[in-house]
Amino acid sequence: MSLKTRIADLIEAQGPMSVAQFMTISLLDPKEGYYATRDPLGSGGDFITAPEVSQMFGEMIGLWLVQAWSDQGCPKNPRLVELGPGRGTMMADILRTAAVAPEFLADLDVVLIEASPALQQVQADKLRGQNGILGADISWQAQFGGSLGDRPLFLIANEFFDALPVRQYVKTKRGWCERLVTASQGELKFALAPVPAPITTIPADREKAPDGGVYETSPAATALAENIAGIITAKGGAALILDYGYVEASGFSETLQAVSGHRFADTLDEPGEDDVSAHVDFVALAQAGRRGGANVSGPVTQGLFLANIGIAERAEQLMKANPDKSRDLLTATERLIGNDQMGTLFKALAFVPPAISDVAGFPP
Ligand code: SAH
Repeated sequence: MSLKTRIADLIEAQGPMSVAQFMTISLLDPKEGYYATRDPLGSGGDFITAPEVSQMFGEMIGLWLVQAWSDQGCPKNPRLVELGPGRGTMMADILRTAAVAPEFLADLDVVLIEASPALQQVQADKLRGQNGILGADISWQAQFGGSLGDRPLFLIANEFFDALPVRQYVKTKRGWCERLVTASQGELKFALAPVPAPITTIPADREKAPDGGVYETSPAATALAENIAGIITAKGGAALILDYGYVEASGFSETLQAVSGHRFADTLDEPGEDDVSAHVDFVALAQAGRRGGANVSGPVTQGLFLANIGIAERAEQLMKANPDKSRDLLTATERLIGNDQMGTLFKALAFVPPAISDVAGFPP
């Protein structure tokens, strides 16, 4: 039975489901969920991410992490956590680069948060292959859990938060009604809840939305960001979140999208077959970080962040060493920081302990 049929049956039995529940099942169903069944980043995959564009991306982030650790007096027993490591490429590039600080690596506990067993395997193969250099332990968890609060936490997440489920509310004459997924004869459709949602869940600035305007929110994302910030505030560390997203909600339209084979697809058409994601609300994440007690830097654009930490200099260095690769290196750099490529759509946000004020890559 296809995942779509199973979702339709579930809706027939229990009533309409939230967009958030639809996203969770589509992406993470253990049998047929999108991430559970494939490597979406592989050759012939559905999308390509910054670490897969160039090793420079993970290298710069590795240096950023070592810098953050050293800014805080090189705390003992650091833990390095990556949320949603994909193919393990960025972690491999980070660990290779972090060898510039052997004391950072010496008692490093590396934890990869990955819901998909298939991708856990891809990551293990990748990291086992390369890590003669690494004394650190690497382990996996399906979710960011309570056990990760006992050490200084250095955390990175690239294109992870966009996969977290969002809820959507639509402005109507009756008030804000939640957008739900319903089913009829095996097909899935959007519909509005007949009863408005309790108005307290809608931020005041959305009240000027016209009829049909959408308010999108990810309680899963903000709860996780607050939790991470709380650990960093209590134990030290730093978090760096990179993703496509917005600082000001541009208008009042939804950002939920489905992508298949590098093309946009109909969100409800083939659950489990298409990547479903939403743009990240960086203001909401920043607020969550402050609620957790952290000093929040950014959001700034990915282009500015990478330029500030020296990606152009790194590209030049690599070009000198490998003149035959110059063209590829230029193209990759342009792809990561160019305004019409990933440079502006993608944003960077950092959390550090309240006592730390200067964070590499972010304007003071
Ligand atoms: N960071 C990688 C991969 C991005 S794709 C890169 O930049 O290339 C999103 C990753 O997050 C995948 O590894 C996916 O399996 C994982 N993921 C998505 N939702 C998750 C969840 N709720 N819990 C844990 N991992 C999740």
